[in-house]
Amino acid sequence: MAANTTEYETDVIVIGLGAMGASTLYPLAKRGEKVLGVDRFAPPHAKGSSHGGTRVTREAVGEGPAYVPLAVRSHQIIAELEKEFDRTFLVKSGTLIVGSPMTGATPLHGAQDFLASSIAMAERFGIRHEIMNADELRARYPQFRAFRDTDRGYLEPNAGYMLPEALIEAQLEGARTAGAEIWTDTVVEKIEQQGGKVTVTTSAGIVKAKRAVVTAGAWTRGLLGAPFDRILTVTRQAIHWYDADDFAPFGPGRMPVFIWFVTDRLEDYFTGFPVTDPSEGVKMVASRDTPDIDHEKIGPKAELWESNEFYEKHVGPNMVGVKPDVVNNAACFYTNTPDNGFIIDNHPQMDKVLVVSACSGHGFKHSLGIGEAVAQVIHDGKSEIDLSAFNLARFL
Ligand SMILES: Cc1cc2nc3c(=O)[nH]c(=O)nc-3n(C[C@H](O)[C@H](O)[C@H](O)COP(=O)(O)OP(=O)(O)OC[C@H]3O[C@@H](n4cnc5c(N)ncnc54)[C@H](O)[C@@H]3O)c2cc1C
Repeated sequence: MAANTTEYETDVIVIGLGAMGASTLYPLAKRGEKVLGVDRFAPPHAKGSSHGGTRVTREAVGEGPAYVPLAVRSHQIIAELEKEFDRTFLVKSGTLIVGSPMTGATPLHGAQDFLASSIAMAERFGIRHEIMNADELRARYPQFRAFRDTDRGYLEPNAGYMLPEALIEAQLEGARTAGAEIWTDTVVEKIEQQGGKVTVTTSAGIVKAKRAVVTAGAWTRGLLGAPFDRILTVTRQAIHWYDADDFAPFGPGRMPVFIWFVTDRLEDYFTGFPVTDPSEGVKMVASRDTPDIDHEKIGPKAELWESNEFYEKHVGPNMVGVKPDVVNNAACFYTNTPDNGFIIDNHPQMDKVLVVSACSGHGFKHSLGIGEAVAQVIHDGKSEIDLSAFNLARFL
């Protein structure tokens, strides 16, 4: 609920309380900053990029070495949050990446050969993993119909999936308890900086702050305008849940999260999640290069034909025991940079406004590390993890 005020003073305002905003608000509040978080809805919600029940995580991220410390730190923070809230936020089912690395046909999230670069990151950063050949994969995972003889599996046993809505909810609760002010159902309309002070116009009144952090996801380009409106694109992605003959083989103890490059064609790759609650079905997704869209015109559900088509193309031919019956589906947005990376940098004209656009389809697993790093930048002037790879200048 927005405070009943027309002018409010704070040290830091965090604009948008999805994955990045919630993860930033809590460490700022813990550091004793007077902090206000604002969201146009009431997070966690299903209108942005952080819904759908689960997000893949792994530490040896094939996207590149700049990301690994963020993923590792996020896992550490989650372990701390699990103790604090006595809840599970990361299910360590393991994450399995399967493909034929020698064909070089596994490009994803900006990595040329995603499988090979995941293995390289694991070796470079000493992350526990296992490599399997096709026979070992066949023996271990009967849920998958057919592996190629050239296939290799990379299994990271301490990885798995995060629970996005539960994490956002807990961090907002933690932030509130630590003294943060939170305004939900409040739209930020304009951000201006005069001298050293930021003025934020919201639907609940004016906020004056020393610093602002913009974590507005798909709305970032519309809110900030140039240069973000020409750098960021927003694409619609679909999530599908299907029924199964028997859910036992899809439990987190028997099936890891998987990213499977089924053939040498990228369009044949897809991802699946273990099932914790059979009533929800087996979740399957795939990142797709879809056209840039006006996300405000898109509804929260995918079309039934999309789920049927996804089943016919990916699930039916490749998974054993998953039925074509669609239990649920959803639509979600990627906010992408041209190199499929992140932007974590000051606004080019407003040096008190820090912009965090960390999606490109792979941001959630890093959100806790990013939030802490942003809080350090604001509170200490510098983050422990190097954020320079996420500079804005590379697009200007
Ligand atoms: C289908 C799908 C699958 C994904 N899979 C994975 C995965 O497996 N692993 C992974 O690591 N990542 C994954 N991602 C990416 C990850 O989910 C995103 O990187 C992350 O959720 C982005 O969070 P965000 O905070 O930037 O955006 P959001 O969570 O959308 O938050 C933005 C918030 O800003 C608020 N807001 C916007 N404008 C305003 C305004 N003007 N005033 C007030 N509030 C405003 C919105 O209401 C929203 O709550 C996936 C994304 C999608 C869509």
